[in-house]
Amino acid sequence: MRIGQGYDVHRFGEGDHLVLGGVKIPYHQGFVAHSDGDVLIHALCDALLGAAALGDIGRHFPDSDDSYKDIDSRKLLRRVRDLLSREGWEMGNADLTIVAQAPRMRAHIPAMVANLCCDLKCETAQVNIKATTTEGLGFAGRGEGIACYATVLIRSR
Ligand code: MG
Repeated sequence: MRIGQGYDVHRFGEGDHLVLGGVKIPYHQGFVAHSDGDVLIHALCDALLGAAALGDIGRHFPDSDDSYKDIDSRKLLRRVRDLLSREGWEMGNADLTIVAQAPRMRAHIPAMVANLCCDLKCETAQVNIKATTTEGLGFAGRGEGIACYATVLIRSR
């Protein structure tokens, strides 16, 4: 068994929705990002790659490469899953935390879990997503962006 952790932040900019865990959430801002800005999936990818000692998302999918411009991050997650699978790893569980003052995440979490489980080919019980505010403190509290933390266990098949 191996453990990995991931962290990612995206800044708010112009837009009318956010994409988190592959779920489109209406909001009065969007993410400034090379991809779709799915900060939750990026943190998860980094945790998985970290657990397998395969580097990080920036190494595998550099933002200098135009083929990743505006890419659906779920495609990246499926590629990360395939990378780990080729190395003989499968995910045990993932525990994810979204740090956001707004919007409210609760109603969207079941759909996020369903998307991630679909891409990771795992059971619902293997993925947990939590959301917290920071009580108005820091960049998340000021509504400047969203941070996500991911912790995963992987095991050899
Ligand atoms: Mg990112």
